[in-house]
Amino acid sequence: MTQYDYDLFIVGAGSGGVRAANMAAAQGVRVAIAEQRYLGGTCVNVGCVPKKLLVYAAQFSGEFESAEGFGWTMGKSTFNWPSLIANKNREIERLQVVYNNRLQKSGVSLITGRAQVLDAHTVAVDGTEYSAERILIATGGWPFVPDIAGKQHIVTSNEMFFLDQLPKRIIIVGAGYIAVEFASILHGLGVKTTICYRGHKLLRGFDEDIRDFLADEMTRKGIDILFNTDIEAIESAGDGFAARLIDGSQVSTDLVMYATGRTPNSTGFGLEKLGVELDDEGAIKVNSDYQTNVPSIYALGDVTNRVNLTPVAIAESMALVNKLYVNQPRPVDYDNIPTAVFCQPTIGTVGLTEAQAREKYPDIDIYKTSFTSMKNSLSGMDEKTLMKMIVVRSTDRVVGMHMVGSDAPEIIQGMAVAIRAGATKAVFDSTIGIHPTAAEEFVTLREPVS
Ligand code: NDP
Repeated sequence: MTQYDYDLFIVGAGSGGVRAANMAAAQGVRVAIAEQRYLGGTCVNVGCVPKKLLVYAAQFSGEFESAEGFGWTMGKSTFNWPSLIANKNREIERLQVVYNNRLQKSGVSLITGRAQVLDAHTVAVDGTEYSAERILIATGGWPFVPDIAGKQHIVTSNEMFFLDQLPKRIIIVGAGYIAVEFASILHGLGVKTTICYRGHKLLRGFDEDIRDFLADEMTRKGIDILFNTDIEAIESAGDGFAARLIDGSQVSTDLVMYATGRTPNSTGFGLEKLGVELDDEGAIKVNSDYQTNVPSIYALGDVTNRVNLTPVAIAESMALVNKLYVNQPRPVDYDNIPTAVFCQPTIGTVGLTEAQAREKYPDIDIYKTSFTSMKNSLSGMDEKTLMKMIVVRSTDRVVGMHMVGSDAPEIIQGMAVAIRAGATKAVFDSTIGIHPTAAEEFVTLREPVS
């Protein structure tokens, strides 16, 4: 028996914390996990899971519109937001029970309440102190909203999942993952949607062709995109709001949502006093073993603000537990992490953008195709698909694949395996396509674009 109550005390029961807890407990490690808000963290409660459920809901409107082209006569369809939210809430509650049961089965002590790290080996939760050999901070992030006049009127993604009623009109500020996903969801559910963005293209960091293509597709569907502008102030106006833009113009709306990034949850629970180092953006600094400058304190996931994706936090947890308790280091490889944006049409991407590839290699070939999918030949939907592949000419290695279109996330997941395995363009060329699919285009790209 050691001198500590626990071997590992985890602060934050989100995707990263829960996986670390279960995996460490399975090794016989004595684990406690503290959570102040909701089991499962952002992903399960106000992120990936409820978002995807809303995405499914939003896609029905397009399906109903398409049905006629396939011979269906549709009756009048109506949509009930409170019913969707109630069903979504039920599913989230079910997942929380699954998480809870799993922790119990693993023998992890789940402690509900706000944790305060008192010293390098002590955490207090609501007045009770627990000692631990190691402390893992997995507290995730929280929506960031810039200071603007009328900030009290706005909502973030956190509140969007629990609105009582859908607004008729919404302005969404920002052009990152959350902004474009919510814009597509709300537009699909019949809300008049305006994106207001300070820059000149959506989704900074993505391949330029993807950014242009998505903006065209979203605009064609009827989403208003205001580029190169920002909101200066928001005032109540009747039942809704008036948003004053920096050029002095006003936009009337029923709701303003800010999707302007997320900040790491790293302050206010004791780390400052302990001298745990943070970077300029408030992320906890860790070494390659997720260890902070206080050797018994570790951190992973969004609170370290590296690659803020659920599967990355989970991979980091497994790497940490392997290193600490299994003695089998299996570090996370941060190259070629595939990612998806669940806007309409969806985006899937893995590897380098064209700009990154050109910076890294002198000899790049670009293969690109854009087409109307077979479904849309009858659906009447004016939606196109874009596929792009980036190849290093001298080695024939495929170093980037990007897609906008139906099922792009599902397709790119498989492509990511090929890229990680080092597939060359010749391997793609010799792969027989599955016909008729959109994915087969990736194995029939013959001529590079000039
Ligand atoms: P992002 O960082 O993706 O986007 C933030 C957006 O807000 C950018 O367009 C940014 O503009 C803009 N912005 C930032 N600060 C300001 C400001 N002061 N005034 C006006 N605009 C501003 O953040 P999100 O909130 O969309 O998402 C957070 C993270 O969550 C993502 O980065 C991603 O890692 C994760 N996520 C992943 C999803 C997925 O995997 N499908 C889905 C949702 C979230 P600029 O580009 O000019 O800085």
